Amino acid sequence: MRAVRDHERAVDALRRSYAAVPAGETVRLAKQTSNLFRPRSAPRVPGLDVRGLTGVLDVDATARTADVQGMCTYEDLVDATLPHGLMPLVVPQLRTITLGGAVTGLGIESTSFHNGLPHESVTEMDVLTGAGELITTRPLGEHAELHRAFPNSLGSLGYATRLRIELQPVGRHVALRNIRFTRLEELVDAIGEVVDKGAFGGEPVDAMDGVMFSPGESYLVLATFTDQADGRPSDYTGQEIYYRSLRRRTRDVLTAYDYLWRWDTDWFWCSSAFGVQHPVVRRLWPQRYRRSDFYHKIVRFEHRHQVAARVDRWRGRPARERVVQDVEIPLARTPEFLRWFAAHVGMDPVWLCPLRLREPAGPGSARAWPLYPLQPGETYVNIGFWGSVPITPGAADGDVNRQIEHMVSETGGHKSLYSDAYYDRAAFDRLYGGETWRAVKDRYDPDHRLTGLYEKAVSRA
Ligand SMILES: Cc1cc2nc3c(=O)[nH]c(=O)nc-3n(C[C@H](O)[C@H](O)[C@H](O)COP(=O)(O)OP(=O)(O)OC[C@H]3O[C@@H](n4cnc5c(N)ncnc54)[C@H](O)[C@@H]3O)c2cc1C
Repeated sequence: MRAVRDHERAVDALRRSYAAVPAGETVRLAKQTSNLFRPRSAPRVPGLDVRGLTGVLDVDATARTADVQGMCTYEDLVDATLPHGLMPLVVPQLRTITLGGAVTGLGIESTSFHNGLPHESVTEMDVLTGAGELITTRPLGEHAELHRAFPNSLGSLGYATRLRIELQPVGRHVALRNIRFTRLEELVDAIGEVVDKGAFGGEPVDAMDGVMFSPGESYLVLATFTDQADGRPSDYTGQEIYYRSLRRRTRDVLTAYDYLWRWDTDWFWCSSAFGVQHPVVRRLWPQRYRRSDFYHKIVRFEHRHQVAARVDRWRGRPARERVVQDVEIPLARTPEFLRWFAAHVGMDPVWLCPLRLREPAGPGSARAWPLYPLQPGETYVNIGFWGSVPITPGAADGDVNRQIEHMVSETGGHKSLYSDAYYDRAAFDRLYGGETWRAVKDRYDPDHRLTGLYEKAVSRA
């Protein structure tokens, strides 16, 4: 646990490093990790000093809250809460996603069908604004406008240095039911049943996500937190690979810790791109490097040096378009989107994660998140796909991503902004609360020292 005095010193260091950035230069965090996928321009001045803002300040097991520094990874946060039998209301799947990053850049996980998104359980937040002031925001009160506009602002309004979040109880184990569907309509009906009843087939459900291998083969994973587990928990951090288990097992048990990080070990299934799922390579690949942040480093190296792209060119293979996206589609339109995706993009597997705005809304929440306006009472399914497709003759890089953006809008959905986006400014403003963002920006960053949201998300500034 980090002492309050150390936290204050770290905030001072951050403020000093902010003041040292010359006007007109891009302000950027000097963070060790990132889960952003779009390439960014190289910074010309040193980034903000956030080294001392990576810890947990306090876990209040009685009130079920935690005070956490803005750049604390969920891995460290969970390490602090699990010994109390508690976890954050939503724990994104990748270990090095930070709390501040998930609140400003959005996050989602299998508890999102009843807990909403990570920002919905933030009751208080210290923010260093673009104007260089440190203010405390809450869902109601003087700075409520900033509190509500912060989610999906991607650091364009200010940086969170401390957040108070709600926690929830979790058992020592998680019992899983892997349910197979051959028709997407049946999958959607099952999601609807879990959302309505908090149970399926009479058994309670605490968390739910799924995987589609093809429109004729999809799985829902229904999880129940428990202290009593039948049998020894499975281990997917060694030779076994988690996503493959969905096809082999109808029931499973994991420790709570392994459940939270079940997707990190193989970066969902994306570790196959590095050969890590081949039995021989897997045995030789050190366990400490079977983690999403290590794979991400390899991808960043590839972005910089284009090794695979050069090998492809040399072998006469077509260039490839990166298709790395998470989109949210209303439940009723999900089969239509998934069939279109299978026919026109053809990447598999895809990750499925139902979500709704939290009900009842968190303490004091006005339920308005203007920069990512999901409809209250509507169930969405987050559909995640991460890979690349060949650029076909006559097509250009970005065409498939543009078609996806079009289809997302057609089906009444939304797209998160951690990866490539191609919207024009008018469409972007309409979809992501442009008017509100500008008003909040003018109030808290009047000289526009922090990079704008459109510039970050679309122009890759
Ligand atoms: C392949 C892939 C899969 C993903 N899958 C999931 C998923 O399954 N579930 C999920 O929840 N999320 C997922 N994400 C999205 C991820 O949660 C967001 O990209 C999140 O913003 C990453 O947090 P980070 O701490 O790594 O932030 P970074 O990548 O370091 O930064 C993201 C942005 O947030 C800003 N920022 C960072 N910290 C702060 C802060 N304290 N205050 C203000 N601004 C800040 C940065 O300036 C930057 O613009 C995925 C991303 C990728 C690339």
